[in-house]
Amino acid sequence: MSTVNHHPESSMLVDFSAGNLAIAPSICVSAHLHFCNQCRNELLRLDQVGSKLMSEVELTEVGDHLFDSVITQIDQLPDSSAPAVSSTSDMADGRYPLLVNKLINGSEAAPTWRRMSASVDVAQVTTGQKEYEVALHKICAGGKTPRHNHNGQEFTVVLKGSFSDEHAVYKEGDFLFCEPGDIHQPMGAQNGECICLSALAAPIKLSNPFGFLMNPWLRINPM
Ligand SMILES: [Zn+2]
Repeated sequence: MSTVNHHPESSMLVDFSAGNLAIAPSICVSAHLHFCNQCRNELLRLDQVGSKLMSEVELTEVGDHLFDSVITQIDQLPDSSAPAVSSTSDMADGRYPLLVNKLINGSEAAPTWRRMSASVDVAQVTTGQKEYEVALHKICAGGKTPRHNHNGQEFTVVLKGSFSDEHAVYKEGDFLFCEPGDIHQPMGAQNGECICLSALAAPIKLSNPFGFLMNPWLRINPM
């Protein structure tokens, strides 16, 4: 497994640990954790702090009805020990985080690649939330994406291969968080295609005058 150099900020891991991070960014953090030992250890530490705090909270009596209702809901949770979903989609990959393969294979409508630009294909992933568009992006070897501005938050995790922008090179497992106002131009590595998982909160705005060519970048379509 490659060395991960780019991680979510501590505050994001704190929110993740506390269950306060929205679903789509949480999917990206989970995907990063699959690759990153360092953040898994940090999360374990945060979870321990959280459970210590919980154990110090004064207990409140609950009625039988509420207790039964909670137990019923716990019983209805999916069995997390269930075997991995078999790969039915050509997008799934044994090296991807299990969660990502589940999202790919578990969608009612199997995600399909569609051309976004000469160098980039995109496949939307169904997550059942409306705040973010979650998608896989495939950048071909050496492919350039349009230089773009962000007017919403974007969370990205590299699942396969690598890409670079003006700031750094991002390899398998690396986590990238773009905020409104950030401008960059990702470029696929020369030695192979790059596949990323991303959660996009609001439309990406192009920063060059030929933006009309890149209309697909302007929409978000949560699924
Ligand atoms: Zn990390």
